[in-house]
Amino acid sequence: MAVIINYKKCCWKDGECSSCGCKGSSKKCNGCVEVCPVNALIRNKLVEIVPDKCISCGACVEACPKIAIKLVN
Ligand code: SF4
Ligand code: SF4
Repeated sequence: MAVIINYKKCCWKDGECSSCGCKGSSKKCNGCVEVCPVNALIRNKLVEIVPDKCISCGACVEACPKIAIKLVN
């Protein structure tokens, strides 16, 4: 399984939360990145996945309020 991020839906743009439908305060998305148990998601200009670390647990999919993350085969 692989994590796919839909960057049109994701609120994290250009290094900050653009709309904050996530769980954090207005400038800090506390969605997918914080719930990942193996630190496979990182915030840069966009949220990025480190595929080699991901264990396909699905926690980020559950956490994302924007339905911007999918796990696909
Ligand atoms: S939780 Fe969803 S909207 Fe928030 S940064 Fe992660 S993918 Fe984007
Ligand atoms: S599926 Fe689990 S391990 Fe993979 S990025 Fe999402 S939270 Fe992290």
